[in-house]
Amino acid sequence: MANPLTPDVLVDPVELTRALVDIESVSRDEKVIADCVEDVLRHTKHLTVKRVGNTVMARTGLGREQRVVLAGHLDTVPINDNWPSTVVDDLIYGCGTSDMKSGVAIALHLAATLPDPAYDVTYLFYEAEEIESEYNGLNLVSAGHPEWLRADFAVLLEPTYGAVEAGCQGTLTAVVHTRGRRAHTARAWRGVNAIHAAGEVLRRLEDYHPRTVTIDGCTYREGLNAVRITGGVAGNVVPDECAVEVNLRFAPDRSEKQALKHLHKVFEGFDLEVVDSAPGALPGLEAPAAREFLLAVGVEPAAKLGWTDVARFAALGIPALNYGPGDPSLAHAPDEHVEIGRIRDGAATLHRWLAG
Ligand SMILES: [Zn+2]
Repeated sequence: MANPLTPDVLVDPVELTRALVDIESVSRDEKVIADCVEDVLRHTKHLTVKRVGNTVMARTGLGREQRVVLAGHLDTVPINDNWPSTVVDDLIYGCGTSDMKSGVAIALHLAATLPDPAYDVTYLFYEAEEIESEYNGLNLVSAGHPEWLRADFAVLLEPTYGAVEAGCQGTLTAVVHTRGRRAHTARAWRGVNAIHAAGEVLRRLEDYHPRTVTIDGCTYREGLNAVRITGGVAGNVVPDECAVEVNLRFAPDRSEKQALKHLHKVFEGFDLEVVDSAPGALPGLEAPAAREFLLAVGVEPAAKLGWTDVARFAALGIPALNYGPGDPSLAHAPDEHVEIGRIRDGAATLHRWLAG
C-alpha cells in the first residue's frame, strides 16, 4: 500500500485528519497506521525516530534549553458504522475524528512542517490507549524507555474542544468488610448480622463531605461513593460477611498513600482491602513552558476530573495537560465528528507556541 500521508496531505492538518481516520486502527490493530506515521517521520530530516511495538517516537535535537512533548494515541474504539470518514459542511465524521486523530494530525503536521521550533520537541504516537493499561504504548514506554519521555512539559492532544484541562484526580477503590456470625434465622439471637453492620459504613458515606481543592487555578472536586455491595448466604441464614466496595476520587494534592490513609480514617474500625489505585497528577502550570503554552492558547485552565494518561507523565515528574480540537462528549459515539475550524485553530495555536 502506498502511504496516504503524502507531503501535500501533511501540510494540511484537516486533510491529514481525514487520511489518518481512513487508516483503520482499532486497538491492537495499529501496525498499518504506525508504519505510515513512522515512514513520514523517518523522511523528516530534522527528526530522530524510534519505535517500539506500534508506538513511534520522533524528536528534534536542536540543543534548546527546554524540551516539550506532543503526544497522541493512534488507536480507536471499534468501528460502529462510522468508517471511512465523510465530510458534511464543516464537519468531518468518522471513528476517531474527535478521539483523537484530529489531535494526532495536528502533532504530525507540526512534526513534518516545523524544522526550527523554539523548544526541542518530542512527538509521541502511541498504541492501545483505549484498552487495558498493560497494552498502553505510553505505559510501555514509561516502563521500558523512560528517557524517550524526558521533557519539561507535555501536551496530550486528547479531545477537550479547545479547552485546557490540567492535571487529573487520582482514584482509589477499596472494599470495606463487615463480619458477623452465622446462625439460623429462626434463632437469629445466636448470630451477628454482617449486613446490618454495613449500615454504619453507609452512614459514614452519607455523612461524608468531599473536599473541593483549587491548585494553580484549577478546581478539583473529590468524591467518595459506594459502587457495589455484596453479602448474604441464604434465605434462612444470618449472614456472616458483607462487603461494600467504595471508590474515592482524590485531588492531586494527595498522594496515593495519603488517600489510603484518609480512607482508613473514614472507615476507622473496619477492615479495608485495596482493589485498585492510581495517582492523580498536579497541574504543574508554573513550569515556564506551561506558562508560555497558556499565553499562546489564551484560555483559563480547568481541572481534569477523570483519570487520564497525563498522570503517566506526572509520575515521571513532567507536568502535562490535555488540549485537543475534538469534542470529548462525541468520543466513542457513532456520530463522532470534529469541526474543521477547531482543527485549523488548534494547529495555528500550537504552531504559534512552538515557533516562539
Ligand atoms: Zn482518546
